[in-house]
Amino acid sequence: MINALQVYKNYTFAKKTDMITKIIHEEKIQKVQRYIDKGNSFVIVSHVSPDGDSLGSSLGLYHFLVALGNNVSVIVPNDFPTFYKWMPGAKEIIIYEKYPEFTAKLIREADVVFCLDFNEPKRVGDMEQALLAAEGRKVMIDHHLNPADFCRVVISYPEMSSTSEMIFRLICRMGLFDMIDKETAECIYTGMMTDTGAFTYNSSSPEVYVIVSELIKKGIDKDDIYRKINHVYTESRLRLMGYVLCEKMKIYPEYSSALITLTKSELERFNYEVGDTEGFVNLPLQIDDVSFVVFLREDEDYVKVSLRSVGDFPSNQFAAENYNGGGHKNASGGEFYGSMEDAIRIFEEGLTSFNPNKWK
Ligand code: 5GP
Ligand code: MN
Repeated sequence: MINALQVYKNYTFAKKTDMITKIIHEEKIQKVQRYIDKGNSFVIVSHVSPDGDSLGSSLGLYHFLVALGNNVSVIVPNDFPTFYKWMPGAKEIIIYEKYPEFTAKLIREADVVFCLDFNEPKRVGDMEQALLAAEGRKVMIDHHLNPADFCRVVISYPEMSSTSEMIFRLICRMGLFDMIDKETAECIYTGMMTDTGAFTYNSSSPEVYVIVSELIKKGIDKDDIYRKINHVYTESRLRLMGYVLCEKMKIYPEYSSALITLTKSELERFNYEVGDTEGFVNLPLQIDDVSFVVFLREDEDYVKVSLRSVGDFPSNQFAAENYNGGGHKNASGGEFYGSMEDAIRIFEEGLTSFNPNKWK
């Protein structure tokens, strides 16, 4: 129920936030609103190796839908780092890998499946078949380029800082700003903060800060959120970082590039846990003349590739051509099915053909 006071508050918010452009098309908002009004069971899914934004947007939407009295499940393909487990609602997240049949049934039978923070079905890994078999309506909310055609409603705006920002905008545009409570705000802020490297990239729009300001007014402690995510290293993780910087970072000055590699046995030596290498790929960018970094990490049956660039160099093209990947211009990834030696060779060959220096 929305009472007169809430209407008034919504009105004042709307006035105040004339600074927030109505980016999402009205007809998409209305469609999603209709799906929410009509549906009884909702599933929210996100990509493999969930990050702050996939979790933040999923849990933000989760709290909102639950507050509206709905039956909602959040499902992710595999486990996520411990430093996100404090997030409100994180305990309710169901991991597909642990319960493949149960989760596949939930996905298949839901009235509406929200696909958050990914643009193509293969980004959910082994959960892809279950997702494609969903009988309900699918809604994509995402900020990656080139959305694939597998959802009934596609809300895709690559200019957004994060999918979490889009969840904030969606709720506001439905006129339900007041339903964003502190917990929802914490989730949305986490996604915006982590997908922008704590507001150091993809975050130059003044509107990002109008939204952050509203989230702070909802009662979030932004510094505490930063610390809970970034200052929770184990001793071995910090030592692994030291080892990487000292021994495993190779600089290619003629290409303004850097490469980091870590094999399985090196990871084991430092008691590797999921999430331990998060952010490592950004470290070489702190060197004055480095504008492109590739990080190769040996996994069970492939080499996980993370790429970062600054400026115009399209790291996602490099990922697509060399490592079956994609993503954003400045932050992308891929998976390489081959040996570490081949992955390194391909990187070095790629440097000669792409030459990041040409993009400066
Ligand atoms: P990260 O290096 O943090 O794992 O990924 C950075 C970004 O690259 C992600 O937000 C996502 O857009 C993209 N990305 C990561 N891994 C893959 C992948 O295997 N395939 C594709 N297409 N994109 C990826
Ligand atoms: Mn994202």
